[in-house]
Amino acid sequence: MTGTMPTAMPTQVEPANLRTSDCGPIGLLVIQATSLCNLDCDYCYLPDRQKRHIFDLNKLPTLLQRIYESPYWGPELSILWHAGEPLTLPPSYYDEASRILELHTADLQAQGVRIEQHVQTNATLINREWCDCFQRNQIIVGVSLDGPEDIHDAHRRFRNQRGSHALTMQGIRTLQEHGVPFHAIAVITSAAMNEPERMYTFFRDHGIHQVGFNVEEQEGVHTQSSMQGRDREEQYRHFLTCFWNCNRRDGFPIHLREFDQVLGLLQGEQRLTQNEMNRPYAILSVDASGAFSTFDPELLSVQTERYGPFNLGNIDTVSLEAATSDATFQKLWHDMRSGMQRCRDNCEYYGFCGGGNGSNKYWEHGTLNASETCACRFSSQIPVDVVVERLEAEG
Ligand code: SF4
Ligand code: SF4
Repeated sequence: MTGTMPTAMPTQVEPANLRTSDCGPIGLLVIQATSLCNLDCDYCYLPDRQKRHIFDLNKLPTLLQRIYESPYWGPELSILWHAGEPLTLPPSYYDEASRILELHTADLQAQGVRIEQHVQTNATLINREWCDCFQRNQIIVGVSLDGPEDIHDAHRRFRNQRGSHALTMQGIRTLQEHGVPFHAIAVITSAAMNEPERMYTFFRDHGIHQVGFNVEEQEGVHTQSSMQGRDREEQYRHFLTCFWNCNRRDGFPIHLREFDQVLGLLQGEQRLTQNEMNRPYAILSVDASGAFSTFDPELLSVQTERYGPFNLGNIDTVSLEAATSDATFQKLWHDMRSGMQRCRDNCEYYGFCGGGNGSNKYWEHGTLNASETCACRFSSQIPVDVVVERLEAEG
C-alpha cells in the first residue's frame, strides 16, 4: 500500500447537529489521579508533571453521576488512572476509589454493566504493597518500558538525570513474583531503530508477552521527535519486519498490539468506519481539577491557540450532554469531522485506522481538520504494510 499526501487545506463539511447516536458509548474513562510524575522523560507531553495536583476522590461520585445521567454510557467502562505517575499517591487512594466505585455502581453492575480499573505506571515505585493493592482492587496494570537499559535510559530518566531502567525492572520482577499480570508499552525512539532483534529478545527473555509500541511523537510540550522523516519511516518498516520474523521464528511468544490489531481486522474481514479517538464521548478524560474533555486523552488540558485548553467544562458545573452545545465542542467536532472526511476520501488505510486521532493532527498541522500525519504513518500505515507484506511473503 502507498501513503497519501498530507492535506490541511480548508474542507467543506456542513455544520451538523450532533445526534446522540454520533456519540459514545463511553468505553474508556481516563482520570488524572495526580499530575505529578517522579520521572522527567524527555519525550513526555505533560506540561504539569512537576506539580502535585490531585484528583479529589470526593468528586468521583459526581463524575460517575455525570456519566450515568448522560445518554452516553455503555455496557463496559474501563477506568484508567493515568497522565502523571499514579503510584506517587499511596495505595490507600485506590482502595478508597474502589470503595466509592463499588458503592456508586453496584446497581449498574448488578444489571450487567462491567467496570474495570487500569493503571499505567512507570513501575519504579512498585513493591509488595502495590501488588497487594492491584490484586485487592482487581486493577489491571500497564507498565511503560522502552526495552534494554541503554535504550530505555536514553530518554526515561529522573530529574537528576539518573536512568530509571533498574527501578522499572525491579518493579516488573516484583509484579512477576506476586503473580500480577501486566502488559508493557514501549515508546520507540531512534535509540531502538538499529536493534530490532535485541528489542525482541529483551521482551521475550524477561517474560513480557503483551507489548505495544508507541512511536515517539511530536506533541504537547514535546515539540520535536527523534522519529521524524522518511529515513526513519524506512528504518521503522525494517524494524517491524525484523521483529515479526524473530517472533515467527519462535512461534509468536509476543503479542505485539500493532500486529494483532491489523491481523484482527484482516481475519474478521471488517474495516473500521471510525475509531474511539475521533468519536465524541467514546473516551472521557478528566484532569486533577475535574476539567473534562473527549476524543484522545492527550488533548486533555493542553493549552492551544486554536482551541484553548481542549476542555469542555468541569464535572462540578457542566453535564456531558450540555457541554456538546458549547462553542468549544462545536468547533472541535466540526474540525474533527472535516479531518475524518479528508481521511475517508483520500486514504486507502482508512479501514484500518478509522481516521486517526486529533492530537497528532493538531500537533503536526495546527488543526484537527487534517488527514495524514507523520504519526499515522508510524502507527497505522507502516504496521499494515508490514503485516500484509509478511503474510503475502509467507504464503
Ligand atoms: S513516566 Fe510517563 S508521565 Fe512520567 S515523565 Fe515519563 S512519560 Fe511523562
Ligand atoms: S489518519 Fe489514518 S485514515 Fe487518515 S491519512 Fe492517516 S492512516 Fe489514513
